[in-house]
Amino acid sequence: MSECVFCLIVAGAAPAHRVFEDDTVCAFLDIRPIARGHTLVIPKSHATDLSGLDAETGAELFRVGHRIARAVQGPAFAADGANLLINDGKAAFQTVGHVHLHVLPRTHGDKFRFASGLVLRRSHEPERVAAAIRSGLAALDTAATDPDTDTG
Ligand code: AMP
Ligand code: ZN
Repeated sequence: MSECVFCLIVAGAAPAHRVFEDDTVCAFLDIRPIARGHTLVIPKSHATDLSGLDAETGAELFRVGHRIARAVQGPAFAADGANLLINDGKAAFQTVGHVHLHVLPRTHGDKFRFASGLVLRRSHEPERVAAAIRSGLAALDTAATDPDTDTG
């Protein structure tokens, strides 16, 4: 974990342009921004991916990302919109193994074609897909009430 660059940033041992921090999360500018003001919000406590993140910290991550998205659309920054995104796992293009929420300020007419290649345009077997997701959610609920399982 000591080699995790985001943990080093939290510890002040690696440089970063911080925009916010509280007891739980830290937000700083992405070193290779896709858009001006591209910010990452991370939990201060190391979690490699969402499976290792407790729900309360996940909620705080989004609460802060939400505030940053609103902030960049205020008069001080004047973006027209924002994308909020977590790449969870290598299959989803996660390259840094410490959970991070991207906040990408957007302006009308910008050239950033976010997710243009990722959109599934046709719905394949929507009933089965919805049922499988509902099953997954139910399994999470079951695990949350099972004292032998701690999924956060
Ligand atoms: P992801 O593909 O979701 O894992 O994105 C990782 C992001 O972390 C990329 O946008 C990188 O530019 C960014 N990044 C990597 N190292 C640093 C760093 N030391 N400081 C700030 N951002 C970083
Ligand atoms: Zn870390």
